[in-house]
Amino acid sequence: MTEDITMNPERTDRGTQQLQRDGLLKEKKAEQAQARQMQQHQAEGVKCPHCGAINDAEATFCASCGNPLRMMPCPHCGNEMEPDADFCEVCHRYIRHDVCSFCGAHLMSSDAFCPQCGNPQGGIVCPTCNTLNDFSFCKQCGTPLTEEAKALVKELKMQPDYQILVEAASELQELNKQIPFMSERDIIRSQMNDKLRERVLLLLAKDKGITNPTIPSKESKRMTRDELQKKKNEKIDQITALLDRMAIPQLASPIKARNYAMAQKPAGVRLAWVCNWKHAMHSSPCGCAKPQLGGKWVILGKNSNNEIKDDKK
Ligand SMILES: [Zn+2]
Ligand SMILES: [Zn+2]
Ligand SMILES: [Zn+2]
Ligand SMILES: [Zn+2]
Ligand SMILES: [Zn+2]
Repeated sequence: MTEDITMNPERTDRGTQQLQRDGLLKEKKAEQAQARQMQQHQAEGVKCPHCGAINDAEATFCASCGNPLRMMPCPHCGNEMEPDADFCEVCHRYIRHDVCSFCGAHLMSSDAFCPQCGNPQGGIVCPTCNTLNDFSFCKQCGTPLTEEAKALVKELKMQPDYQILVEAASELQELNKQIPFMSERDIIRSQMNDKLRERVLLLLAKDKGITNPTIPSKESKRMTRDELQKKKNEKIDQITALLDRMAIPQLASPIKARNYAMAQKPAGVRLAWVCNWKHAMHSSPCGCAKPQLGGKWVILGKNSNNEIKDDKK
């Protein structure tokens, strides 16, 4: 009886020992194979698809040109993305849960609010248009949503280029409201109206006993279609030159790039954001995966909505 008790566990022990040995052996073999493969990889390195330079096997970015060596899948939709992108242009979602999308601070995945800026990681609803936003400015209407964004707008408002831009934008908006003369008869009719206005004003002055009255000229003169178009083109050229000058350079952080570009956007003009990365036309830098490479605002033409490829509602 006692023998049986001691013998049986011993036997099974031996059995498991054998199994463990087998397992260890297999593991060791796999380890060796992996090490061999690593050595091979290290010897070969990874060839950069952009410039052809041979990089370290584990490198994510090319040491020579800085381009990514491998892609990563979007955690939401699986779209292949470059490893330094923080936004998926396919499913339009922010993907970095370790970086605050409002201020760029480091986050723990358990943080509901950023310990740095205090903003909710679930996004901010725009008080103006009710759109849910991952970034500091409303992607729909441009309203600054965080304290940092409001401070940035305040700071930019002091810059002379920005002030000229805002003025030019409102002048263009005024020109866009004007209706030009459509025909010769239109012009004659308007001239007759002006003469009538002059006569009425003269008569009124005479009634008041003023002998040499000065007739105030009309504030905005109506123009022909060509004159109006010429004026509009001049304004558009001025705004384009200003926007070119205000184009944002390469920045370290995509968060900073988005905030800066959004703060620069003047109201009243239809604009699109063109990024330096793919030269894609976005409705704003909030729709770009890599705004840190820089970009600028451009004026949109009349029927150019279909040129904007992303962020469609
Ligand atoms: Zn390269
Ligand atoms: Zn996605
Ligand atoms: Zn933050
Ligand atoms: Zn909004
Ligand atoms: Zn882009």
